[in-house]
Amino acid sequence: MKKIKFNTNCKSKHFVQYFELLQSDYDLFRNKHFSNLCIKELEPIYSGSTLFLTHSATAALEMAATLIDILPGDEIIMPSFTFVSTANAFVGKGAIPVFVDIKESDLNLDESLIEQAITSKTKAVVAVHYAGHPCKLKELKALCDKHDLFLIEDAAMGFGSSYEAHPLGGYGDFGIISFDITKHVSAIQGGLLLVNNEKYKQRAKNVYHIGTNRDAFEHGEVLYYEWVDLGSKYQMNELNAAFLFDQLQESKSILNDRKAISLLYYSKLLALQKSGKLKMMPESHVAKNVHEFYIILGSESEKESLRIFMIKNNIEALSHYAPLHNSSYCLKSGKSQVITNTERISKTILRLPLHNDIKEEHISYIAEVVNSFFNENRETK
Ligand SMILES: *Cc1c(COP(=O)(O)O)cnc(C)c1O
Repeated sequence: MKKIKFNTNCKSKHFVQYFELLQSDYDLFRNKHFSNLCIKELEPIYSGSTLFLTHSATAALEMAATLIDILPGDEIIMPSFTFVSTANAFVGKGAIPVFVDIKESDLNLDESLIEQAITSKTKAVVAVHYAGHPCKLKELKALCDKHDLFLIEDAAMGFGSSYEAHPLGGYGDFGIISFDITKHVSAIQGGLLLVNNEKYKQRAKNVYHIGTNRDAFEHGEVLYYEWVDLGSKYQMNELNAAFLFDQLQESKSILNDRKAISLLYYSKLLALQKSGKLKMMPESHVAKNVHEFYIILGSESEKESLRIFMIKNNIEALSHYAPLHNSSYCLKSGKSQVITNTERISKTILRLPLHNDIKEEHISYIAEVVNSFFNENRETK
């Protein structure tokens, strides 16, 4: 079997054609032709939100951090089991990350631990929808309302997923989506900020345009545009937008294929779960799972042995995240903390290949390899 990579390049059917179109007319660049087409595709999904296409989810998180006016010492509640951008966006403005543990069941923030982490300095809760599996947004929103906090959804892995009838990212005050190449629908590099709280929709336009009132100028509301706020060049470039436009039109089949792969994985590994060899996501998430397929092993050494066994069999499986609270950057602050589930999961999680070049025969092969790992191990024990 040829090497099965963890991920693969996402494909674009029409990018070359779109690029030629862009090259034919400067005004298409200037008027953000493809960014606008993407927004038209996305608006029906996120009705009620104001949308800002950004060059990354990292940029979208930074916009949210600017909009909530962080003051030095403000505290932001978030998981430690997340990508570094979730924290950096806020810490870069002087905030202190307050890390709360995740639940073993779905690797999302444990709602029952949030209230005790709230202090008079708490400004926001950042809910990361791990693997695009929804956090309990109603409970989180009620907590945030009670304590007058912002609810920010890091739905970087959540495009195409929902919580009840709400698309992920569309429920809190702000939502963040990633279209990075490591995600399932991609601009190669890109992101989206969803501004759901009415109070911030106008100001977000200025922050997005490098802190100028260019948006008002473009709408003929002012005669010239000038510096009015903080901001940066958060916009997505047109080449990425052309790529994303193509992917958005393919997104239904991309998502459906990945759901089918998830169901197959789940059924082929279920016997191992039943015999207590590994754990998977809750069964209720499988049919809608699109971002990644993870398994949780009994120990770090077992996870590492399985990973190496898979590599020997030409399968690339990866783990993550190095918990933020144990990072060298955080430890410099001198505060050490034990966060039980986060630490255990980061040592024992293994993510299996999931992309749109994976076929049924690949999944059968991968499941066979995982099964044989446990059978061989049992004999040698
Ligand atoms: C991927 C990811 C990000 C960063 O996304 P970029 O588009 O690469 O900036 C942030 N948060 C989470 C949870 C992610 O998975």
